[in-house]
Amino acid sequence: MESDKTCPEYREILTRAVQKTKENRQYFKKLKKMKSGEVDTLMFRLHTEVFEEIDCLKCSNCCRGTGPLLRERDISRLSRTLRMKPGQFTSQYLRMDEEGDYVFQSMPCPFILEDNCCMVYEDRPGACRDYPHSDCISFKKYSSQMLANTKICPALFLLFEKMKKVIPL
Ligand code: SF4
Ligand code: SF4
Repeated sequence: MESDKTCPEYREILTRAVQKTKENRQYFKKLKKMKSGEVDTLMFRLHTEVFEEIDCLKCSNCCRGTGPLLRERDISRLSRTLRMKPGQFTSQYLRMDEEGDYVFQSMPCPFILEDNCCMVYEDRPGACRDYPHSDCISFKKYSSQMLANTKICPALFLLFEKMKKVIPL
């Protein structure tokens, strides 16, 4: 679901993404049968293209809805930035999820500002830097997460719409 800080144009994209869930599920099945390298190379190229068109500051949907997993190095860096001890940072902001990973206690992220900027941008967690991961992961390995993310991230949805023009449904 889109946040109320997502601009109308991107909300519309996310509505289309939900409507196309079935189509995308079928499309992903087709992509999974192809050679990994072929899909990944195209995905990495389209990632760059799509993020030249999409402005995350008009969206912030990932920061308000899903949130990242935080590794030890993320916790050390952020606690240093906020001049806190790592334990203090952990008890104030984090909880452990069902899989034993640290996540923020609640969403929206405590560091998202009203104007959609990130208060700790330079030191944000690695998972925030990488989201939606379309320039750094294997499509085949993470296709189910990617399918879910097409309904959260307008850029990712548009990426696969562009891919359909190169590799048809
Ligand atoms: S730390 Fe920054 S980039 Fe990461 S979810 Fe929070 S606001 Fe978004
Ligand atoms: S990465 Fe995707 S979901 Fe996150 S702010 Fe940018 S466009 Fe929105």
